[in-house]
Amino acid sequence: MSAPENTFDLCVVGAGAAGMTAALVGAKLGLSVILLEKTQTVGGTMSTSAGTVWVPGSSVAQEAGMPNTLDDAVRYLAASAPVADRSLQDTYLRTGDEAVNFLQDNTHVRFLPPARHPDYQSALPHATAGGRALTAVPFDGRRLGRHFARLRPPIKEFMVLGGMMVGKDDIPPLLAPFASYANFRHVIRLLLRHGRDRLFHPRGTRLVMGSALAGRLLLSLLEAGVTIRFGVNCSSLVTEGERVTGIECNADGVEQVIHARRGTVLATGGFSGDQSRRASLVDPQLRSYTLAAPGNTGDGLRLAERVGAQFDGEHDNRAYWMPASIMMQPDGTQSVFPHIMLDRAKPGLIAVGSDGRRFVNEADSYHDFVLAMLANAPRTSPAWLICDSDFLSSYGLGMIYPKSGRRKLKKLLKNGYLASAEKLGDLAHAIGVDATGLSESVTLHNRDSEAGVDSAFGKGSTIYNRHNGDPRRTPNPCLRPIVKAPFFALPVYPADFATSTGIATDSDGRVLNIEGVAIPGLFACGNDMASIMRGRSPGPGVTLGPALIFGYRAARFMANAAAN
Ligand SMILES: Cc1cc2nc3c(=O)[nH]c(=O)nc-3n(C[C@H](O)[C@H](O)[C@H](O)COP(=O)(O)OP(=O)(O)OC[C@H]3O[C@@H](n4cnc5c(N)ncnc54)[C@H](O)[C@@H]3O)c2cc1C
Repeated sequence: MSAPENTFDLCVVGAGAAGMTAALVGAKLGLSVILLEKTQTVGGTMSTSAGTVWVPGSSVAQEAGMPNTLDDAVRYLAASAPVADRSLQDTYLRTGDEAVNFLQDNTHVRFLPPARHPDYQSALPHATAGGRALTAVPFDGRRLGRHFARLRPPIKEFMVLGGMMVGKDDIPPLLAPFASYANFRHVIRLLLRHGRDRLFHPRGTRLVMGSALAGRLLLSLLEAGVTIRFGVNCSSLVTEGERVTGIECNADGVEQVIHARRGTVLATGGFSGDQSRRASLVDPQLRSYTLAAPGNTGDGLRLAERVGAQFDGEHDNRAYWMPASIMMQPDGTQSVFPHIMLDRAKPGLIAVGSDGRRFVNEADSYHDFVLAMLANAPRTSPAWLICDSDFLSSYGLGMIYPKSGRRKLKKLLKNGYLASAEKLGDLAHAIGVDATGLSESVTLHNRDSEAGVDSAFGKGSTIYNRHNGDPRRTPNPCLRPIVKAPFFALPVYPADFATSTGIATDSDGRVLNIEGVAIPGLFACGNDMASIMRGRSPGPGVTLGPALIFGYRAARFMANAAAN
């Protein structure tokens, strides 16, 4: 017999993007909700993400003067993320605006469309340059009071001055504080706020991107009275006949059963950290990394499979990828830095394989970049980002900030983060790359840069490419000759930030068994649910978007279902 305080309408496993949303929506619709989290903090990978959701046709965009239609989005998806059965994608598109409005009207979650945030396949018909991508509005972590400590911190490498978050809009003023009065004022405000924060908090409390979204969800959950338990270890789902009625877990060192009258939601963030299932993602010979939260070890998938759930494993790609550079820290830990949009598209950088040859349009999306890497033999080598000293000082590279001093560079060269040489041939030799290939690649790239047209891969040919280039460089914001010694090379490896394959569900997140029939009382969302894009990445926000929208739908389904 378990105590009545362990009986809820809704039990959610995993306090990341999908789980926090499902729990919050359930509570707002009148359900009693418990949220079980394995680690000591909420937020999961969402906390370290850019916090962008891809929601076509939203009223938020309409009100900001960036209208875009669902019909166009349907056509765009058909070309950029084609799937045999479009029903889940259609449900996603139809529910997006409703889910965003529900969160904005009933909770502290707020979104805004950045003025420009192009779809990733921007050369395809019906792509947009902005309006579909919405980002979380910055959040003041002080509003969480003592619960601020329960929010998973952002990636250390994305913070400066011992814990100040830097959003995309902060970067230009920070790089050129004296370029205008507005820049100067922005920087002074950031610094004053951060200085004050550090008197009272271990890190900055001005939260942006995914951290802001997680903070907004946490504040809303606390106010909605959702019970949150930390350090919970779930062992198995409880069933009565076909129906899942709760979960067995160890919480606070005590074995217990949580009963869920309406349903149990699995939202444990996919299987990035499950080494055996991970072997299905990449050639085990290939050195690969993960950017997902350390708690995401595939628990939800295992729990579901044990009660007969269907694993949907045949996707175009089984994970979502970013190229990442790796730095060994003095304490022996490794920093994994994702190259999302700050360096690859800028003019004066190429990526080559061990043959010294380019294999990709470097300015394409992070996911497409890695897919090209994986297709480029030999699969066991990293790709090398090659640039000259002008590039490094103008734009930085990975963990190297622009205008980094000689001392900092010397340190990074010494610890092996990057390599450098006065001549390209010596650089090729130092990194074990074919020297003739590298020399020919740079020669062709430099000739194309003068003409402004990348004849090999079309770098700078799309709206998305140019968005991340340097607008001061004409005619092509993504091309500039690589000429000024010393030359630099930085190795990048595939790092997944989300898994795509997962549990098969219907359009309300109900888990399907191997016959395709819903298992009563069991739901999955976020990366535990098989991605509706099936490993394609049509635009910014295609894992957080579905996490929120199917989290919303699952909770709404349970709220509408008769109690039993
Ligand atoms: C640098 C970076 C940038 C990104 N930017 C974006 C972006 O802008 N847009 C986008 O769409 N995606 C982005 N992503 C990916 C996105 O953050 C994830 O896909 C998303 O957070 C997945 O949501 P989730 O709820 O499935 O998992 P998570 O948010 O990772 O949450 C899972 C939670 O479940 C917990 N958990 C795991 N196992 C258990 C268990 N057994 N019991 C209880 N709790 C458990 C985990 O500890 C974690 O707290 C980015 C990722 C990275 C790394």
